[in-house]
Amino acid sequence: MQDRFNRRINYMRISVTDRCNLRCFYCRGVQDFQFISHEEILTYEEILRLVRLALRLGIDRFRLTGGEPLVRKGLDSLIAGITSLPGVKDISLTTNGLLLAENLERLRTAGLRRLNISLDTLERQKFERITGLDGLDRVMAGIRQAVLAGFEPVKVNVVLLKGLNDGDEVEKFVELAFNLPVHVRFIELMDFSPVDGYFVSATEIMEKIRRKFRLEEIEVPGSGPARSHFRATGMKGSLGFIAPYSHHFCGACNRLRLTADGQLRTCLFSEKTYDLKALLRQRAEDETILQVIRASLAEKPAGRESTTGYQKKNGLRNIGG
Ligand code: SAM
Repeated sequence: MQDRFNRRINYMRISVTDRCNLRCFYCRGVQDFQFISHEEILTYEEILRLVRLALRLGIDRFRLTGGEPLVRKGLDSLIAGITSLPGVKDISLTTNGLLLAENLERLRTAGLRRLNISLDTLERQKFERITGLDGLDRVMAGIRQAVLAGFEPVKVNVVLLKGLNDGDEVEKFVELAFNLPVHVRFIELMDFSPVDGYFVSATEIMEKIRRKFRLEEIEVPGSGPARSHFRATGMKGSLGFIAPYSHHFCGACNRLRLTADGQLRTCLFSEKTYDLKALLRQRAEDETILQVIRASLAEKPAGRESTTGYQKKNGLRNIGG
């Protein structure tokens, strides 16, 4: 499927829950958040039906996210359901890693191989300061065990936060990429949170690292223009820099998002949603749902020019990371 800006849309991020077991200070909205009631959350059967329909439109890459996807029971059964569908090219999971170690075997059996783990600090106390929970050891155990269990790639996503992880910590993350075959990616903070003054540019961090280490640029297939990846000699993993603010990245956007309550979003920066849950629950025909997805693509905005302040009010957790 191509949209009106000739972008090939082949990727869907599916939020399976709005619940999370961490309270990261920058990942919430300014307004009080009402959790979605359980009846409003799509069932796995409903998600699978939408995945089947998306496949018919050429959307064949899926990422499960949230909230924290691993707090939802039976996630492995959804993954197994998706991987068993003909035509699925890729399925991956974004997690904070807290519940990873105990779920690895089930996830692997279900067919998952690709993992993105969010981790903003390698210091125990700072982890608690950022997330509200003393959980660094559990996340690190999850990362190490994922590598041992053969997950590939294992990406560690670090949101850059001024004064928190842009100093000495940068080198610790570089060390992590030397010691483990993980892809450490420094990501710019987006303007989706009630906090101000924490933004650090990924380019600045990249330059800081390049002053100390000789990095060679490497190709990572499927990466957009806001991403650069590097490896230093002897490094088991790699380093990446994702700079949506320093670089314009909407021109390469290939994605749709489905919220936990079945609202389709064509753009993270837009308020507009398409109510697929209502269609599912009215027992709409496949063709009716397909028409709505097609129509949504026809309206997918060019880029973040459409930001309305909605993001700041709601935060990424509420929109669905
Ligand atoms: N719970 C899962 C996790 O931790 O990966 C998935 C959801 S979480 C919202 C997805 C990612 O969004 C996390 O890496 C989090 O750090 C990031 N995030 C949240 N707010 C952000 C913001 N304002 N700018 C950039 N990244 C943000």
